[in-house]
Amino acid sequence: MSENSINPAERLKLGPREGITYPLMVKYCGNCSMPIEYCEYYPEYEKCKAWLEKNLPEQFERVKLEEETGDGVDDDKKRQKRGGKGLMKIKKKEEVTKRITLSRAPRGKKKSVTVVTGLHTFEIDLKVAAKFFGTKFACGSSVTGEDEIVIQGDVKDDLFDVIPDKWPEIDVDLIEDLGDQKR
Ligand SMILES: [Zn+2]
Repeated sequence: MSENSINPAERLKLGPREGITYPLMVKYCGNCSMPIEYCEYYPEYEKCKAWLEKNLPEQFERVKLEEETGDGVDDDKKRQKRGGKGLMKIKKKEEVTKRITLSRAPRGKKKSVTVVTGLHTFEIDLKVAAKFFGTKFACGSSVTGEDEIVIQGDVKDDLFDVIPDKWPEIDVDLIEDLGDQKR
């Protein structure tokens, strides 16, 4: 009997075909000696697959295809990976750039004021800071903007020491000298 005598629908069917006599209905695995359908329950399934690949390549291809398309253990692994690190993102608290700027501005013909900005980025109370500067330098000091303090007098150079001394969280590298600025 030739292959051509089987109609296409019949040929696609798995298992024994009508009119064909199979000498062996069940194929046994050379590794675990079980019918190959049961190999996947055998602890050394990998060895079974190796045997299958070598001795029954057609069966091996079918097993491989089932593993790749089936919703077995592999799919669970994928799901676990998806739920992992993606949710562990740590939210950064520091959204504002922490930076102090110091500048000097002329006041009248001979005098200068010193302008301090950025203390608020370190969550420092500006009123407290202004009062501190006033006491420290024995001069007028006041909050003049949302994050700005003006000290009466040229104390810019002193502030590079005074500020990190008073607020250790402010590293001297975070203090920028803007030089002389017109106001
Ligand atoms: Zn086996």
